[in-house]
Amino acid sequence: MAIFAKRALLSVGWASNTRVEMEDGKIASLQPAASGRPGDVCVDTLLPALANLHSHAFQRAMAGMTEYRLAGRDSFWTWRDLMYRFTKHLTPDQVRAIASLVYMEMQESGYASVGEFHYLHHQPGGAPYDRLAELSDRIMEAAAEIGIGLTHLPVLYSYAGVGEKPLEPVQTRFGNDLDRFCKLVDQAQDALGGLPDDCRVGIAPHSLRATSPADLARVLAMQHKGPCHIHIAEQPKEVAEVQAGLGARPVEWLLHNAQIDESWCLVHATHMTDQETRDMAATGAVAGLCPVTEANLGDGPFNGPVYLNAGGTFGVGSDSNVLISLTEELRTLEYSQRLRDLSRNVMVVGEKSVGQTLYCGAAKGGAKALDRNAGEIAEGKLADLVAIDSQNPALCALTSQQLLDGLVFAAKDQVVTDVWSAGRHRVREGRHVARDQIVSNYRQAMADLLAKL
Ligand SMILES: [Zn+2]
Repeated sequence: MAIFAKRALLSVGWASNTRVEMEDGKIASLQPAASGRPGDVCVDTLLPALANLHSHAFQRAMAGMTEYRLAGRDSFWTWRDLMYRFTKHLTPDQVRAIASLVYMEMQESGYASVGEFHYLHHQPGGAPYDRLAELSDRIMEAAAEIGIGLTHLPVLYSYAGVGEKPLEPVQTRFGNDLDRFCKLVDQAQDALGGLPDDCRVGIAPHSLRATSPADLARVLAMQHKGPCHIHIAEQPKEVAEVQAGLGARPVEWLLHNAQIDESWCLVHATHMTDQETRDMAATGAVAGLCPVTEANLGDGPFNGPVYLNAGGTFGVGSDSNVLISLTEELRTLEYSQRLRDLSRNVMVVGEKSVGQTLYCGAAKGGAKALDRNAGEIAEGKLADLVAIDSQNPALCALTSQQLLDGLVFAAKDQVVTDVWSAGRHRVREGRHVARDQIVSNYRQAMADLLAKL
């Protein structure tokens, strides 16, 4: 299968009239200044597609249901309450139907892959399913149905807070001790055999609140073979809790107590001192930024300028999936910095395009976080590709050098025409090929779920 692109952003820069041949999910050859051949998929502008490095798929079903303020309740309350009511009732079929919708929306928005930070493991009430990895299986089925590249990250969630606080009854669907968690990861690894080769299983100790120093050391020794993701410093309250219980701020503690390297992704590395920021950047770990969710939950802005100046790697994720939009994610990242610094063009080092820095940085960082050989268009890389229509009014007046600024700041996701995940061409003319069926399954699942709440 081959693509003919009028314009393509290759690892070496922009090229015209490029023919991209794909084989076994990878880019087999790149021919700039070529002609299209019969049977080629012809597109306007071809870009490396991004990885969405952080998702809790089921939370998409709550979008729009928690933006209501109640007198006398803290601001987080409506969100958390509904999340727990959902988790009391969600069935495996519903988990799968929601995940399929979410992964379809991600692909339509231009993402080729997703890191699913998966913490819903057990039955309502907390008893395990007959097969421990039942819900991991459902996530994998959804990814296979949609064709998105999956890096599945089963979550170790053992405590309700620092100091091994026992789980609350509403958290029992998430909970595992270390032995059961390792069994679950092994089952998920086995189930990978049913997915394409670009899919992966990693691990995700939930946070320093939900695991203990001893458990963290043990799980890393036993199961850290691929990517390792952790929620690290999302809210000031979390920083204070870790500082009081472990004697250091979360990022500071983690850097001193675990071997942090390029296989790590620190999600919501939001609250860091400048020293923590520079130290984290030096490890090569990826900062997993979720600007839309972080804005929605009122978390605060990332320490962007210090991190980029220190050479830090970053990627983006849609986390709660309140809105799945690649362009919105990147522009919210930059706008959060501008609003704090009362300045423009912040997420860039030196004299460069902000859009290109954000897009290409997130492409490479996201691929690294998900252990995908992707993030740029070059021979031998996975064919994680997105085509956009530069004739759209939002982009039609721009030069190649301005195009990514236009995409990030002036366009909507509707400029996406085609997406390939490791060569799987599932979004065509802006729509997923199975859209109607996926949406219909989701509607039915939600009707059943809402009737139970
Ligand atoms: Zn998260």
